[in-house]
Amino acid sequence: MKKTDIAIIGGGASGLAAAISIKKYSDFAVTVLEKGARVGKKILSTGNGRCNLTNNKIDDNCYNGSKRLLSYLSADISSSEEFFSEMGLACKSDEQGRVYPHSMAASSVLDALRFTAIAKDVEILCDCNVSEIRKSKRGYDIFCGENVINADAIIIATGGRATPSLGSDGSGYVLAEMLGHSKTKLYPALAPIRTDINLVKALKGLRTYAKVTLSADGKTLAEQNGEVQFSDGALSGICIFNLSSLAAKYVGKSEIILDIAPDFQKKDVSYMLFTVKETRASLPCEELLTGLFHKRIGQAVLKNASIPLNKTCGELTEKDIHKICSIIKDWHFPVTSVSDWSLAQVTSGGIKSEEITDKFESKFSKGVFFCGEILDIDGICGGYNLDFAWKSGYTAGKNSAEYIYNVKG
Ligand SMILES: Cc1cc2nc3c(=O)[nH]c(=O)nc-3n(C[C@H](O)[C@H](O)[C@H](O)COP(=O)(O)OP(=O)(O)OC[C@H]3O[C@@H](n4cnc5c(N)ncnc54)[C@H](O)[C@@H]3O)c2cc1C
Repeated sequence: MKKTDIAIIGGGASGLAAAISIKKYSDFAVTVLEKGARVGKKILSTGNGRCNLTNNKIDDNCYNGSKRLLSYLSADISSSEEFFSEMGLACKSDEQGRVYPHSMAASSVLDALRFTAIAKDVEILCDCNVSEIRKSKRGYDIFCGENVINADAIIIATGGRATPSLGSDGSGYVLAEMLGHSKTKLYPALAPIRTDINLVKALKGLRTYAKVTLSADGKTLAEQNGEVQFSDGALSGICIFNLSSLAAKYVGKSEIILDIAPDFQKKDVSYMLFTVKETRASLPCEELLTGLFHKRIGQAVLKNASIPLNKTCGELTEKDIHKICSIIKDWHFPVTSVSDWSLAQVTSGGIKSEEITDKFESKFSKGVFFCGEILDIDGICGGYNLDFAWKSGYTAGKNSAEYIYNVKG
């Protein structure tokens, strides 16, 4: 049986940060157990291959779920940018405060983590799918296929359930359950929101700027501004992704309301349409909106306002124009579901935070720590999920080293 001081299950963002942190505070033997053929596969896909690794503006409002976990983060890691700068990675930010590696290549982020871990003698075992953890006389026995590894402490950094093709298939929850833990209901988040296919079929592939409201029972749950993309039966884009975690909890009773002319008051839109009605009087009514929107969006607006396309602009009645304005400023799309795990970037929900101490340690199994997406917290788009992964990994790593000091005396 192989022996190590601290075993980290999962060689993703939080697991690698944890390994580096342990070595910063101690010389304990650290072994990363990764089920994939290499560590950090998901990191390479983040930020469209550029890795939006943190954000210049971070506060509690950027997160959903158990926000108290944010207060457990160690003050020793004041910023993720500094954490990476110590590893020789230069970063730069865009006008929205999103921070990327200077190379704009996610591989630079993974290399910084991997090279630092290797230089600090972190042992990395790949193709090691952990299927069971058992409490033993000394620490824990960890089972990966035929191999058993004994560790004094464990960090569970397996991620959640989002995009299982990149490694995180939910098996971490099963391991946590073996140690007495339970999880909140899980939802796919940062994912497209599905709606009535007939409403978006004709718009497939188009994008438009909009004010986006998520509402249920006539009440506004959240609002976003940004570019909305229409796809096969779904709405997508960063502003939609940011609403998806909440929308998942209100499937069947909520709707997305788009204001596709957010820079104009309804009365201004109405004035514009009455003017165009006169200037284009003899043209088909589908030409009414071409000065405002892509032609196909204009056609879809008319269709939803039940205006026959064979009318001319001049034949449109006052009532018709008001119906068209209402769709433009208040276009309703019922939320039928949030896309499945394969398209979700993160998991909303996770291991219950009341089962975790402020050291990110299990309240049921001493010496077992958690970090990253397996916990019940998820961020909006903009680098917040990775920021939590690095910082919670770092903190769990530091706390696990302290735990071993206390155990070994
Ligand atoms: C396409 C995509 C783009 C994204 N872009 C961004 C972005 O730009 N900015 C941002 O902040 N966030 C982004 N995210 C979210 C972010 O990547 C995750 O929140 C973050 O990686 C979570 O870190 P983690 O360590 O908890 O889990 P992961 O990074 O998922 O790592 C978990 C690791 O554990 C391994 N593992 C799982 N189960 C086992 C097991 N039983 N035994 C052994 N190993 C196991 C997995 O193979 C994996 O390597 C993106 C996510 C996706 C899918």
